[in-house]
Amino acid sequence: MLSVTKHALKKPDFAPVCKSFEKSLAANYEEFKVEVVDCPDLTAAPWKLALPGLGGEPCVADVGGVPNLIPTPNVEKQYNLDTVAELCGLSDGYVIGASAVASKLLGKNAELVNNGKTGKDGVVKSMYTKIIDDKGNDYECKEYPHNEFGLLGNLFLCRGLPGKVIHVTAKIRKGSLNFINCLNKGLTEDFTDPVAVGGTFLLTNGKAKLHVMPGFSCSPLHTEDDINNWLRFHEMSGPLTHTSVFVSKDPGLDLRLEHSHCFSDHGDGGHYHFDTTPDTVCYEGYFNLADNICRIDPPEVTHLIGRD
Ligand SMILES: [Zn+2]
Repeated sequence: MLSVTKHALKKPDFAPVCKSFEKSLAANYEEFKVEVVDCPDLTAAPWKLALPGLGGEPCVADVGGVPNLIPTPNVEKQYNLDTVAELCGLSDGYVIGASAVASKLLGKNAELVNNGKTGKDGVVKSMYTKIIDDKGNDYECKEYPHNEFGLLGNLFLCRGLPGKVIHVTAKIRKGSLNFINCLNKGLTEDFTDPVAVGGTFLLTNGKAKLHVMPGFSCSPLHTEDDINNWLRFHEMSGPLTHTSVFVSKDPGLDLRLEHSHCFSDHGDGGHYHFDTTPDTVCYEGYFNLADNICRIDPPEVTHLIGRD
């Protein structure tokens, strides 16, 4: 049985969160807009989510953690989205987010975009990106028709219902922060209590630096340099559809505070770090705020390496 700690959040109204986003975006982008809207149908391209909305008992779950991967992987740490949804009190719920594939199923470690409705009438639209050559130069982004994932997961759960969400667009980056760092920085500065956010965003134009995990390292990874030498970094092209979770402050749960993975129709995908084309980059996202954070199966021995 996995351990679970449910932390209830003092969820702010949308209005002050929008103000905070606007303040951060103004410092980082030439053009931006933040508004509260009715969630459009996110099952439509290019979003391609499994359910239309981000509403209904919204919750953020942090499952396992980087210490299950680093310094040495614990491949026995495999999780199931149905179980995670039940532990969060959202049986048959909808889950999106960033995690690693179940390496036992895929035969290899890889980046996973979680996107599916759990339960008996479940729908799985998840996508993974894996390295497919020995040197780490080539990769592929494909459908992942499973509910299992491995090692760690930063997930947003809800009922997938329509409702109000925060719509953010930003163009032409003039600051140094990535899109999610930028939004989260405002929340960290402006709210005393933790604010947890989940949703989807598109890098519609431009390129991004992404990483894709290769096969597990043969030697232990002890430092950020070790990890960066092991990971395969690639510049990939938009449009890239991301699922993203971010939390402004850790209320003592050993959380990863930001995690975004992406997929595309053109074979690109992975873990989002940064856009590399500030003059042409264009982002659009839809986000909702979580009522709770569920911390599931935190590693017994932890560290802060590799949480970028
Ligand atoms: Zn990742």
